[in-house]
Amino acid sequence: MSIGTATIEYEFICPLPNGLHARPANCLEQVVVGFVSDISVVNLNNNKKANVKSVLSLIGADIKKGDKCLVVVQGNDAKPAYDALVDFIEHKLPDCDAALPEMVYETNKVILPPVLEDAGIDVIPGNPVVSGIGRGKAVFFEKLKLPESLNIAGFVDVNDELSEVERAISELSSDITDNLSSGRATVVEREILNTHLSIANDVELLNKVRYLINNEGISAGEAMLSAVEHFSKILKMAESGLIRERVLDLRDVCYQVLKNIYHGKIDDSVKLDSHSICIAGNLTPCQFMSLDKEKLKGMVLTHAGNTSHTVILARSFGIPTLTGVDGVCLNIENGKEVIVDADLGIIVTEINEKVERYYALENRKQKAIAQKCTIFKKKPATTKDGSSIKVMANVATADEVEIAIANGAQGIGLFRTEMLFMDRQEAPSEDEQFEEYRKAAANANGSRVVIRTFDIGGDKSVGYLNLPKEGNPFLGYRAVRLYNEYEKLFKDQLRAILRASAYGNLELMIPMISCIEEVLWVKEKVKQVKEALDSESISYNTDIKLGIMIEVPAAAFIIPHLSKEVDFFSIGTNDLAQYFFAADRCNEKVKSLYNSNHPALLSLIKKIVDDADVNGIRVGMCGEMAGKVENLPILLGLGLKEISLASPSIAGIKAECAGLDRASCKELVIKILNCASSDQVEVVIAEQCRMNSHAVVEVGLIDLQVDCIDRAEVIKYISDILYINGRTNSPLEMEKEFWKRESVYSTGLGYGFAIPHCKNGLVNCHSICVFRLDKPIKWDSSDKKPVGMIIAMAIKDGETAGDSHMQIFSRLAKKIMCREFRNKLRILLSEHEVVRFLYDQLALKDIQ
Ligand code: PEP
Ligand code: MG
Repeated sequence: MSIGTATIEYEFICPLPNGLHARPANCLEQVVVGFVSDISVVNLNNNKKANVKSVLSLIGADIKKGDKCLVVVQGNDAKPAYDALVDFIEHKLPDCDAALPEMVYETNKVILPPVLEDAGIDVIPGNPVVSGIGRGKAVFFEKLKLPESLNIAGFVDVNDELSEVERAISELSSDITDNLSSGRATVVEREILNTHLSIANDVELLNKVRYLINNEGISAGEAMLSAVEHFSKILKMAESGLIRERVLDLRDVCYQVLKNIYHGKIDDSVKLDSHSICIAGNLTPCQFMSLDKEKLKGMVLTHAGNTSHTVILARSFGIPTLTGVDGVCLNIENGKEVIVDADLGIIVTEINEKVERYYALENRKQKAIAQKCTIFKKKPATTKDGSSIKVMANVATADEVEIAIANGAQGIGLFRTEMLFMDRQEAPSEDEQFEEYRKAAANANGSRVVIRTFDIGGDKSVGYLNLPKEGNPFLGYRAVRLYNEYEKLFKDQLRAILRASAYGNLELMIPMISCIEEVLWVKEKVKQVKEALDSESISYNTDIKLGIMIEVPAAAFIIPHLSKEVDFFSIGTNDLAQYFFAADRCNEKVKSLYNSNHPALLSLIKKIVDDADVNGIRVGMCGEMAGKVENLPILLGLGLKEISLASPSIAGIKAECAGLDRASCKELVIKILNCASSDQVEVVIAEQCRMNSHAVVEVGLIDLQVDCIDRAEVIKYISDILYINGRTNSPLEMEKEFWKRESVYSTGLGYGFAIPHCKNGLVNCHSICVFRLDKPIKWDSSDKKPVGMIIAMAIKDGETAGDSHMQIFSRLAKKIMCREFRNKLRILLSEHEVVRFLYDQLALKDIQ
């Protein structure tokens, strides 16, 4: 430390495990912001200098743990500023950085399947929230271009431009502050808002904008864009992913400032001109809806949560999506072709030949699954024992209804209307809503459409309603609880729905009911609206059905009473689980408690279904739990006759249904309800899955024209075929199981044959696959000959040497040693012939 008259210096070593990223930089800035002295810090490791009063400048210095830094304080209040700063650095700085959020993945933790591993590429990991694979050019959702129509090039007055930019920034700051103090933001949102606030108030950003306006004679908007470009370049060079990620925040802030400068003249939409992968910090539901879904092939959202409404929408459009992605993705060039693989949880930025081959295999697998499901798309979902379950779709717009019906939906079980109220300056008018609901009814072609009245509040805020600040928004003023105060809004919506009911099969549903009084109040309002329509001679469906969501546990215990008042129930497991387990559905930290496989929740759902049945009232489920194929046996066993889910999953659910029978699902549920924990439930389910027995050999397991060029591809292909044929639910894990043997000793038998095999709990039923390769490949066989024939065996755990199936495998092992058997297999012409030959040779008839 050295103290002069006007300059004081202080050296410290950065103690922060994640370096000086936005959050600690913000704390540091807060300590010095009130002093007039100039305060800078030099990172002695890279000689980057920063203004401590600017978060952007501080994070641009790329200070990492262990970097030696020199603080220089110069000015009239240098001493008190120095004291405050040193006190903060020594006592508080080490504690002002919490651990990284769990959702951020470490690059080296991704285990790639061997075919991709062989491709020798770097990938960027992310948190998969909507599964699937998409490929297209990277498009940053930055929207930072000023429309030419603004004609801003030759502006007139420097002072006007300066005051415009200052006004726009201060408007944004106060909007963010209001948002923060409303108490509606979730923990993650608060963090983002705080970062945005400190960027909006950043002195260096404003200095740069002022400098550009004063010295380069450019407009406020151009100066803002140019300043953001300047800081983005600095941040992009940082080593820390956390710092690079701030570029998206910077762009977000800039965009909002531009909107404030040019009021409504900045176009919100991004035009996609070819297959694209959209990369953004987050998107509002309206921004997402504005994207052309034909061209949108994938999304990378660095900040979005799993249950955010944009993610729910992405799910319903089947757009593969990753969240929690490291800021490194910002180094992807705009326009570069990338793959979002939300099955593996990676972004692939380097597409070489091996990568092409891997995704060609994946494509083949997806197509085969889709083809299998297509057969079921248009059929009702029926179990093997003839019981059926109605499969409906969840939507948020009328346009989605058409897609849902095309995807096989037997109606719309949940139309979330609150999306129509969000991201705008005022509520939609009755006529605007009427048009939307009428269109939904028309798009459904006579099928039922359940319109849920607005569920605003909780995590869905609507600025223009000026809802009060709350400590616990999810437990507070939300959905039906708002309707009394906003009666006009509610009645306008009821009028719109009732008017639209004259044009199709619409039903009304009320969210968040917790007591009978709420239902009676709603019924009274419906009656009043009907009377008003009658007096105006406006037609509507006088018998329109009224239902309620069962998503508050209290409602679940008064089903017999509620049954007397309403026509149907829909179980909203997203909220039911959060209120039942006292675990916030948006909070990553309590994610493990929020578990739909918990026997307590399942027993609550059983009670709801049973009580509704006894009272003769229709009951369905529309929470996310209904959309997972693995939950279907439980839902059938619980007695549900109707479910509603994101429409891309519908065909898969129907296909799954065809392989189940309700009677054994009911037995499964009896076992499950006796479990003590969700872990135990999972064991029971896994056991049940494996009891479904199939023949050891079938046509789907034989392929006589296989285009694989190495062992890794063949093993992937075997695992995919087992998956396509329902013999395993985890193709990736199966690959690893085959490799466990293969990496210890080669299964190349000689004579051009290989017999890869594995035995484990992932195999649903014993299977033999036979493949003939187009070109023989190296397999490290004992006779060094290339392999052209593959006989793969997958054996399920729990079999012993005396078991009938083990006898098949030992017969097969003996046969393979026989030249005649091998030669015959090599020349058989069709898959059917191979199946018949194996039946005969292995005496399968005796066993199956
Ligand atoms: C639910 O809570 O399960 C539900 C479907 O409603 P939302 O997710 O819109 O709260
Ligand atoms: Mg809900």
